[in-house]
Amino acid sequence: MKLGFNGASTMRADLREDIRAASEAGYDLIEFWAKKMIAYLSSHTLEDVKGLLKKAKVKPLAITSVEFITFNASWEKINTMNLIRRYAKIAETLKCPYIVLVPSPRPNGASDQDVFTESVTVLKGISDKFKGVTVEVAFEFLGFDWCSVSTLEQDVEIVKAVNRDNVGLILDTFHFYAGGSTLDSIKKADKRKIFVVHINDSENLPKRELQDCHRLYPGEGVIPLREIFARLKEIQYDGPVSIEMFRPEYWRLPAEEVARKGIETIKKFV
Ligand code: ZN
Repeated sequence: MKLGFNGASTMRADLREDIRAASEAGYDLIEFWAKKMIAYLSSHTLEDVKGLLKKAKVKPLAITSVEFITFNASWEKINTMNLIRRYAKIAETLKCPYIVLVPSPRPNGASDQDVFTESVTVLKGISDKFKGVTVEVAFEFLGFDWCSVSTLEQDVEIVKAVNRDNVGLILDTFHFYAGGSTLDSIKKADKRKIFVVHINDSENLPKRELQDCHRLYPGEGVIPLREIFARLKEIQYDGPVSIEMFRPEYWRLPAEEVARKGIETIKKFV
């Protein structure tokens, strides 16, 4: 399994620092926090980014993320498509395989069927628009109760119904736990449709109270990571595993330190 480092783990470090930290800690892959990429490109070129990656011997995994892609007004849909197009151009140049897409909050009164229909329709539209592009999109469910797609089971059903090569999903262990996804739902997933696994742990709080800031290094919290990775092994998942923590306490530490401790803790599980 290839190991990745996600720029959300070090929100105060810039793109260059993230790449260097990932390299020094020994990761194979890096997930770019999109806004760090855009900030870097305001005074550098994509050739500069290529140079950083080459020197670091780290390969790009994903650009993350385009948020709230469903239940949008027509003008918002245009903005979403423009953003995906912009990231897709960057990703193609860098040979970065994935762009991460995130579902919207559930509108008042929207049923599960409404969420399913809307998500499938939007993802098919994106799939059609970007079918000539080498980049694929990964739909990441969020385990918060306000999110329209909050379990792996829902995400698997949606991606299955979309049924396109360029559309898959992300299983994030924090969202898996917070949203109450079942271990059995992993067995129902097609391993080829899980483009990336995000690994992290969680503080011991009632699930409904969990926020991104409660994420921890793998093994320091209450998520049943051994069971999750045992199920992933059962379905022969051998794709990338990338550490993603949004913990402000970690953001205050040097990026190298977070990256190094991150890879040590991931290796206990994969
Ligand atoms: Zn994630």
